[in-house]
Amino acid sequence: MDKRILVGIILFGVLAGVGFYVYVMMRPKLGRSARVLEWIRHSQSHPEWSVQAGTRCASDAPFVMPTSGLIGYLWDDSFRLGHHHSGLDIFSGTAVGVTPVVAAYPGYLTRLPEWKSALIVHLPEDPLQPGRQIWLYYTHMADPNGNSFISSEFPPGTTGKLIPAGTLLGYQGNYTGEAANPSGVHLHFSIVLDDGKGHFLNELEIKNTLDPSPYFGIPLNGKTASDEVVACGQVGN
Ligand SMILES: [Zn+2]
Repeated sequence: MDKRILVGIILFGVLAGVGFYVYVMMRPKLGRSARVLEWIRHSQSHPEWSVQAGTRCASDAPFVMPTSGLIGYLWDDSFRLGHHHSGLDIFSGTAVGVTPVVAAYPGYLTRLPEWKSALIVHLPEDPLQPGRQIWLYYTHMADPNGNSFISSEFPPGTTGKLIPAGTLLGYQGNYTGEAANPSGVHLHFSIVLDDGKGHFLNELEIKNTLDPSPYFGIPLNGKTASDEVVACGQVGN
C-alpha cells in the first residue's frame, strides 16, 4: 500500500479517536451548560430545578445546602481538556447580592486578609471520616469590582471564628478577579483536604478536594452523575 495512504488512514483513526474521546468527556458538561444558560435567563419557569438553602437532601447527609438555586456544575466536571472542577457551582438565577449563602456545617471560619469573595471553614473532624480534618470553601461572594457580599460579621482577617450550621455567610455574586469578565451569579462550594497540620491545601487542584456526594446525599460527581438536573429530596433539617 502507498505509504501516504497508510499514514492518512492512521492519522484519520487517531483524529477520530481523539474527537470521540473529547465528545464523550465533554458531553455531560455541554448538557449542563445549556441548562445553566436557560436557568439564568428563565429561572422562574423551572422552580423544580432549584435546591433550597439550609435543607438536607438525605436524612443521613451531614451537610445542608449552602445556598438556593440550580446545581449547575458538579465536582470533577471538565470545562476544557485537562481541567477538573474542584467543587459545586450553584446558580441563584437572581441578581448579585440577593441570594443568601449559609454554612453547610458547623466549624471555624477564616477569611484571609486579601479575600474579597471567599471564606473557608475548618472542620477539625470530617463527619464521614473521623480523625481527618477538612475545610469547606465558599467563593464568588462579591460583585465584578470586588465589592464584597460577605456578612460584616466576618471581615478580612477573621481567623478561626466558631459558627453553627445555617449561619448567614453572605450572598451570591459573580466576582472572578477580572471586572470585565464576571461569571454567572453563583456560589462555588468545595470540600478541601488538610495538610495534616491544620492548613488547607490548594483548592484549585481536584486531588486536594473531596467528592461532595456523600456529604449531601445526592449524586454530585460529574464523571458518574447523569446529565439530568441534580434534585434534592429535601427531608428538612
Ligand atoms: Zn466552580
